Amino acid sequence: MEQIPHWIDGRRTAGESTQTSPVYNPATGEQTGGLLLATPADVDAAVTSASAAAATWRASSLAARTSVLFAFRELVHQHTDDFAALITAEHGKVLSDAAGELARGLENVDFACGVSNLLKGDFSEQASTGVDVYSIRQPVGVVAGITPFNFPMMVPLWMCANAIACGNAFILKPSEKDPSASLLLAQLWKEAGLPDGVFTVLQGDKVAVDGLLTDPRVDAISFVGSTPIAQYIYETGTKAGKRVQALGGAKNHMMVLPDADLDVAADAAVSAAYGSAGERCMAISVVVAVGSVADPLVEAIGRRLPDLKIGPGNESTSEMGPLVSAAHRDKVVDYIDRGEKDGATVVVDGREGRTDEGFFLGVTLLDNVQPDNIAYTDEIFGPVLAVVRVDTFDEGMALINSHKFANGTAIFTRDGGAARRFQFEVEVGMVGVNVPIPVPVGYYSFGGWKASLFGDTHMYGPEGINFYTRRKVVTSRWPDPGSSSVDLGFPTNADKK
Ligand code: NAD
Repeated sequence: MEQIPHWIDGRRTAGESTQTSPVYNPATGEQTGGLLLATPADVDAAVTSASAAAATWRASSLAARTSVLFAFRELVHQHTDDFAALITAEHGKVLSDAAGELARGLENVDFACGVSNLLKGDFSEQASTGVDVYSIRQPVGVVAGITPFNFPMMVPLWMCANAIACGNAFILKPSEKDPSASLLLAQLWKEAGLPDGVFTVLQGDKVAVDGLLTDPRVDAISFVGSTPIAQYIYETGTKAGKRVQALGGAKNHMMVLPDADLDVAADAAVSAAYGSAGERCMAISVVVAVGSVADPLVEAIGRRLPDLKIGPGNESTSEMGPLVSAAHRDKVVDYIDRGEKDGATVVVDGREGRTDEGFFLGVTLLDNVQPDNIAYTDEIFGPVLAVVRVDTFDEGMALINSHKFANGTAIFTRDGGAARRFQFEVEVGMVGVNVPIPVPVGYYSFGGWKASLFGDTHMYGPEGINFYTRRKVVTSRWPDPGSSSVDLGFPTNADKK
């Protein structure tokens, strides 16, 4: 069975690792590989290599970095099918979805290709007589990225393109469930001309993560995953003096007003709830049906579900693949059981689509879900859509704003005033107006509010550049020869004539 290694110092290596964690093909349930789990010695080797590389990479010219980024962008494009195959084989999502995540990830490489513009500072000439003041951005040093299973390529690209463009060395700790695409990524960075050690892959579990969180040579941590781990990463990393951004879980509401186009809303709800088997942090998991729209909307959504094609991700007819693991599939089933016990009406029952071969589950639609139902309060992260019925816009708004998660949300309406009010009042980080999955383009930034984000900085785009750089302000004087004198007073900017 294939052993899946680390990538340290520009090459694949097993390091000191002997223990492995199984990697499965979710469509068959078969184990396809054994992931080598980093030991503390492997963490040390990875950080040592990255620290040495960071010291020289920070001195590389912007022109040299830009040329690596353009070459890397081209290579990733050329390998789209290879990436999609690797992702589908270990995650289970359908090939077109895997290619889609790569395309969204590449937006961040496009953005990072403009690094020479992004790192420009400010300059104030003659702040005082003969004194100029200017600001510069410098890399933070060694950055670690700890990523979730559900986007094995997009989320690493959110982080590494900008971090490397800014002159940092980047250590990726991918999910244990689908680690292979990260090694192709490493190989392509090398082929693009990136010096060894600037991009590292450290495979592993909590041992690897804890090693990165406490090693004083790691300067910053970008994390994406579930809320309890995000909180742990934020608290542990900041306590160790690091800069940390930690994105957590979600429960994304889609409010549908009575004036919405019913077919548009139903198509959007089905696509956003069940795409990638609901294993997306921006998946719609709750429809908030306002007033008279509820009955026809539930009927329209339910009517579409029997037509969905569920099958292996590598078959072109499949629209939805299996879940990532047997344990996760069983957890989703348990949530459906408990949601039903808590009083939800099971309109479509995905439990009937559960298979023994592979980690498949059908799609579930729950109606009449109350706000205290566990299927509403918790993130399920599977193909389960809950409908909460409310009487008014205000009731729907209060519901959304009282949820602990606040990653994404959307409103479906033809009323511009209602949409304007929604975006103004809703306490959620990313908002869609007739757009169910409002993932910002690469030149904006991604992040939720409340329990969906720990830290101050959103990910990628302008906020990513801020996170991966430290700002410095230089105050500079080049006196004319013979014009200086001793002055023990505190330097002020009062103009000296
Ligand atoms: P997870 O939190 O289980 O794992 C994420 C990473 O943390 C992995 O690399 C894993 O190895 C590591 N990890 C897990 N347990 C750990 C521990 N005890 N100590 C240290 N490290 C640990 O998340 P997941 O199941 O891989 O991904 C799904 C979750 O990610 C969902 O909650 C989803 O909402 C969230 N997510 C959020 C966003 C976002 O942008 N907010 C994006 C994608 C996924």
